[in-house]
Amino acid sequence: MPARLFLSPPHLSGEELELVREAFASNYIAPLGPMVDAFEREFAEKFGFGHAVALSSGTAAMHLALRFLGVGPGDEVLASTLTFIGSVSPVTFQGATPVFIDSDKASWNLDPDLLFEELQACAVRGRLPKAVVPTDLYGQCADLDRILEACAPYGVPVVSDAAEALGASYRGRSAGKGARAAVFSFNGNKIITTSGGGMLASDDAELIEKARFLSQQARDPAPHYEHTEIGYNYRMSNILAAIGRGQLRALDERVKAKRRLFGAYREALADLPGLEFMPEAPHGTANRWLTVVLVTPETFGADREAIRLALEEENIEARPVWKPMHLQPVFRGCRVRGSTVSEDLFRRGLCLPSGTAMTAEDVARVVGVIRRVAGA
Ligand SMILES: *Cc1c(COP(=O)(O)O)cnc(C)c1O
Repeated sequence: MPARLFLSPPHLSGEELELVREAFASNYIAPLGPMVDAFEREFAEKFGFGHAVALSSGTAAMHLALRFLGVGPGDEVLASTLTFIGSVSPVTFQGATPVFIDSDKASWNLDPDLLFEELQACAVRGRLPKAVVPTDLYGQCADLDRILEACAPYGVPVVSDAAEALGASYRGRSAGKGARAAVFSFNGNKIITTSGGGMLASDDAELIEKARFLSQQARDPAPHYEHTEIGYNYRMSNILAAIGRGQLRALDERVKAKRRLFGAYREALADLPGLEFMPEAPHGTANRWLTVVLVTPETFGADREAIRLALEEENIEARPVWKPMHLQPVFRGCRVRGSTVSEDLFRRGLCLPSGTAMTAEDVARVVGVIRRVAGA
């Protein structure tokens, strides 16, 4: 059996171990410490955010943002339906209810026109959502300016789920910049990783300060342990921040490699009918975290599941596009505006191996299987 090709495995820069050694030498084998401070500073500087707090996961970052915004029992939060559950499970942690919005065809992200409609309907009902949470899917930014424009008349804050889009840009700004807060993830499959971790970034000093406070068990300033509210244990460890600093130095290279890989797949499969690639909206530059194709069975001659299974047989990992949240059993009964675009993307979409250390031979292995299934 040839070696397994994973969907998006970690790719070390070579600088991580030295930074981890430094953390060991300083004896900061603890949550918090100088590596965490440096990681937050370097992150905020690189992406143009005023402030950032390093956390145990992207899900934790979203949870703290929603808690800061006062999301609570009985509230609604509007979110992309085509996303990973970590984007919306924090809505339920707060006892609130998600309302899902379909994707647009240009970017596969939250459709701003549907958002305009839904907000209008909410206003008529006299019940505005507490927040809007658009995802930057597969490393492509949502149309944030139009989303902000839709929310502005109602004063509804936007939290950008940029967990998949680190290194991507939107109208010249970094992913998430311009939203009230932005959420990032360093899970093992993301474009850079700390093995597990997240970051909440914002230009609002008070928001980040409060998130930092809540992430450390909400300890009031006192020499003993004093608590006037309930917090969480959500901080990033100093060791993992050392890995993050090493990874951050490689990010620009990783974005280039992901985009090159996307181009290589597209070129090698361009002649196959019934196979399309995820579009890149003119409003930004995607990081191409995953290369995603759409398979039209009628013209391709097989469906995405046939390709996935054929790849699996060759020890190659591929995955269907996220199953929309409005189709998840756990969200049965939640409202959804639109549904056809995301359902079609789920039915036809397949994520191909997108590791940045993939060789030309690795790409040829994947391409060979897809061409064989197509009978080309
Ligand atoms: C990875 C991811 C998250 C957060 O993931 P964690 O594993 O909690 O760091 C959130 N939203 C999306 C869209 C993601 O892909």
